[in-house]
Amino acid sequence: MNKVKEGKIIVVVAPSGTGKSTLIKKLKEDFKQLVESTSCTTRPIRKGEIDGVHYFFLSKKEFLQRKNEGEFLEWAIVHNNYYGTSKKFVEKKITEGQSLIFDIDIQGADAFFKYFKKKSHSIFISPPSIKELEKRLTSRGTDTERVIKTRIENAKKEILRKNDYEHSLVNDDLKKTYSELYTIVKNILEE
Ligand code: 5GP
Repeated sequence: MNKVKEGKIIVVVAPSGTGKSTLIKKLKEDFKQLVESTSCTTRPIRKGEIDGVHYFFLSKKEFLQRKNEGEFLEWAIVHNNYYGTSKKFVEKKITEGQSLIFDIDIQGADAFFKYFKKKSHSIFISPPSIKELEKRLTSRGTDTERVIKTRIENAKKEILRKNDYEHSLVNDDLKKTYSELYTIVKNILEE
């Protein structure tokens, strides 16, 4: 019997408001073999989100219990909420030959690279500028002013790490950035 080829792990890190969700959505449409991992979070559910699809929305108590039971491959507090990736989910999919794309924060990505070493691929996407990021977060209308302020401060710190990634892109033009991202992902999946 042929051994199933392990799936690929692609980690995309970008400050929130960079256009990462749009870019990942497009990738999933173009590469049907690519599945996005569903994380757990304690963040309040946003309008239009579905529990179990966008995230598994947990109470803080439940999240901490699962964390203590060792369920998460990585977890982090991002913008004052907990987020985590299920170890079982990832290992099962990869072993079955399923390639996964992850939208996680920089702390989670660090833990990821330690866990998977060279088995994972990393892509960082920067906004064109902090000013533009602020504009995008404000016009998105999903977060309060205080939350936006936290996200901007975090973005500044995250951007300092962009060169630690295998690939680093600037989303100053969605079409151009997507074309660059498409080529990177195509090469990874065909390796
Ligand atoms: P949002 O609340 O806007 O959906 O996500 C906020 C941030 O949390 C994003 O930067 C996203 O990449 C990050 N995030 C989402 N899921 C996970 C996860 O499982 N682990 C970690 N470390 N970060 C995550």
